[in-house]
Amino acid sequence: MSKTEKIVAVKGMNDILPTDSHLWQLFENTAQSVVQSYGFQQIRTPIVEDTALFKRAIGAVTDIVEKEMYSFEDSMNGDQLTLRPEGTAGAVRSVIEHNLVYEGPKRLWYTGPMFRHEKPQRGRYRQFYQFGCEAVGFTGPDVDAELIIMCRRLWDDLGLPEIRLEINSIGDAEERARHRVDLIAYLEKHEDLLDAEAKRRLHSNPLRILDTKNPALQDVVNAAPKLMDYLGEESLAHFNGVRKILDHNNIQYVINTRLVRGLDYYNRTVFEWVTDSLGSQGTVCAGGRYDPLIASFGGKPTPAVGFAMGIERLLELMKEAGEPEAPNQCDVYLVHQGEAAQLQAFVLGERLRDAGLDVIMHGATLAGAGSFKSQMKKADGAGAAYAIIIGEDEVANNTAAVKSMRAAEGEQQQTTVPFDQVVDFVVDQITDSGDHHHHVHDEHCNH
Ligand code: ATP
Ligand code: MG
Repeated sequence: MSKTEKIVAVKGMNDILPTDSHLWQLFENTAQSVVQSYGFQQIRTPIVEDTALFKRAIGAVTDIVEKEMYSFEDSMNGDQLTLRPEGTAGAVRSVIEHNLVYEGPKRLWYTGPMFRHEKPQRGRYRQFYQFGCEAVGFTGPDVDAELIIMCRRLWDDLGLPEIRLEINSIGDAEERARHRVDLIAYLEKHEDLLDAEAKRRLHSNPLRILDTKNPALQDVVNAAPKLMDYLGEESLAHFNGVRKILDHNNIQYVINTRLVRGLDYYNRTVFEWVTDSLGSQGTVCAGGRYDPLIASFGGKPTPAVGFAMGIERLLELMKEAGEPEAPNQCDVYLVHQGEAAQLQAFVLGERLRDAGLDVIMHGATLAGAGSFKSQMKKADGAGAAYAIIIGEDEVANNTAAVKSMRAAEGEQQQTTVPFDQVVDFVVDQITDSGDHHHHVHDEHCNH
């Protein structure tokens, strides 16, 4: 690369710019507050883990492990490492390592970047973000249903009521083994109709053939033996237990008997939340039980159920539904001219922030500090409710001019206030008018 060649972001990995970040914050804050209202606690695990963790947790014959992982050798010590492609493996590793369920079951949530080497396209990136939950140590169908109900609440809070739910049960290993024999026999009978990928998976992971997106295969997989017909009493009871709670809570769903999970360790309940408005990348959230996983890692046998949602896809839906306006950047914009005024403005800025207000101090650019007029334009652009102006006169008189940016025509717009009373004056005005600007997440103001 020559010295003047532009360095750009890695393909499939995107910047999130200030024009979008408020939407990300809205999603993250909403999701966090929804899951916290069900008692979920955050877990933060490293982005890099031993490659072996993902190979064992996700399974060798999966898209992720076969072709999507960013794996590398640590050049310092030769360790085989991988950028996490999903969040469950790390969460489970951490639960076992720290014996987190020692005191009883835990409800956990996480969020952050995941990495998969896929072909970048709409709704499919190489660095993408997930928000997920794992309920660890709970056996019954109640927690499966709770996770689903919790998602429904999140969609409602985000203004996305049209997201649809599909559920299925994939039973336990024994039930899948019996189904597998019949499924392979059936697929072998129709091998001439299969595509190359399906043929390759015929004996390694035939279940995955059922959720093929190839239109040419739809008829043959639709007529394939259904796992649902192989479920034993306990698996059926669990599935019906989930359905009973969903029905009782008016959660609509369809049973999709072809719904499976790409990850090997799932059992019983699987579910997906889907939308028609994102083209072929229509799954916004996928989840299910993975009771056998923790024991398979050498942990004490511990049932678990979870889900992960793709944040980019949800943000696209939020934008379609009518993007919320970007919030104002501040309550007060500080306009000043001259060195003495700037010093006063710094003092005032700190006092206003002490009082809980958000303040932008006008800063000089290459073009200088700018005229009062150009500074007022910036105040307007930042959406400030008030501009506070300090010039030579104000410094001399120990005052500041407080200008309401939202006063109606005819109302008094600008008031000269003694310097020591400015904070009280502005706080009173803002409290009276309810003008305090809305943060996406606001700790110090009550709306
Ligand atoms: P797909 O069938 O779309 O490849 P998947 O089965 O690989 O999905 P999961 O591993 O279940 O997906 O991940 C859960 C969710 O994360 C998906 O439903 C999707 O919303 C999101 N997701 C998965 N991969 C990507 C990606 N490369 N870019 C953006 N979002 C993704
Ligand atoms: Mg995938």
